[in-house]
Amino acid sequence: MGSLRDCTWILGLADYRVTGVERGEDGRLILELERKGMHRFTCAGCGGRTGHVRDAKLRTWDDIPWAEHPVTLQYRLRRLWCRRCGIRTERVGFADPHARLTRRFRQRIGLDCQSMPTSHAAVRHAVSWGAARRAERAFLETWDRTRPKHRPRHLGVDEIQRGKGQQFWTVLSDLVRGEVIGLQRDRSEDSLRTLLAERMDARQRAAVQAVCMDMHRPYLNVVTEVLPRAEAVFDKFHVLQHASAALDEVRRQEFFRAGPVMRTHGRGKRWLLLRRWKTVRGSKRAELQALFAANRRLFKAYVLREQLDRLWTYKTRSGVLNVLNGWIQALRWQRLPEMERLGDFLFKHLEGIAAYCDQPVRFGVVESINTTIKAVLRRARGMRDEAMLVLKLKWATARPIRSARDVMRFLHPEAVHSLR
Ligand SMILES: [Zn+2]
Repeated sequence: MGSLRDCTWILGLADYRVTGVERGEDGRLILELERKGMHRFTCAGCGGRTGHVRDAKLRTWDDIPWAEHPVTLQYRLRRLWCRRCGIRTERVGFADPHARLTRRFRQRIGLDCQSMPTSHAAVRHAVSWGAARRAERAFLETWDRTRPKHRPRHLGVDEIQRGKGQQFWTVLSDLVRGEVIGLQRDRSEDSLRTLLAERMDARQRAAVQAVCMDMHRPYLNVVTEVLPRAEAVFDKFHVLQHASAALDEVRRQEFFRAGPVMRTHGRGKRWLLLRRWKTVRGSKRAELQALFAANRRLFKAYVLREQLDRLWTYKTRSGVLNVLNGWIQALRWQRLPEMERLGDFLFKHLEGIAAYCDQPVRFGVVESINTTIKAVLRRARGMRDEAMLVLKLKWATARPIRSARDVMRFLHPEAVHSLR
């Protein structure tokens, strides 16, 4: 075994030196530590320094393993007489108060948990599953607390299904950066109100210019109430979903209620019809054309749905209104009541659709956030801890690791702090 000075060097904790090395069970290495130099200690309460020690208690922290040997640090943690706080424990430089792992060890485990299951990370670092999960949580909380607070111009509000059945979450997101801001049970006015009040401060709320949402009435009410200066922009994909539903209704009318011959013709074509023309290729296109040849009205309805895209290509509200008027004109004499109802619906929601002219929110970001959320939910199936789920969603959508430098930043937070 090398000298204690070498051990101190390997351990590399500023202000602490190794005063003894022991071999514990299972090849564990127990390093006894002592403060270097001055015998004044930092109060955990106020950060002030004092030499008045009341008593001391042996405490241990797990640290990064040395080769195959798990490492435990042992240190006599002082209780101090602080002039301001009274009796307080001392603050150590390498760990947070009450933590059982050193800060650098926590960072390693927490970072690993972002790219592998918690159980794998626990095995890799020779800690229990519970310890790995606690480390992950502290890691994510620290990251979330210390990152800069942005003031997004555009917000997104959406509902996602929670498990099976009629249970939902309301998701609030920053559409400029494509990050989740918060998650709340249910899709009621209260859920969104809570999110806007608790997850954002007044300065952040004041900066919001537009909120992208579906045509869910409670959300709209809350946005007008809490963010009176922000415009509500209806999400294009949700609007087109209504159009697809109308198209599907036409299909049912034309084929299924029109006798057995037509019925065999239209069977199994639902998904094909719901797809957009530009995404349909080859033989499927021919299939679709055969279907249209059999029924002109279905063809007309399909074309009308495809034309709705033009609602989002205009730069002025009057342009959008003209498109919709033209679209409704084209419906005349077609005897397509489903599409007429859709026309009324669009007309009723025209303001939120046309708001896109002034506030071109990024619809693609809404979709990509949804995809990420669903992936995280699938992986976190059965996760009961909602605070943890929100942190994981924030991490997955914010994608803080984009380069090797980012990894370094998370593994050596001290180095980053000293650079500031
Ligand atoms: Zn103090």
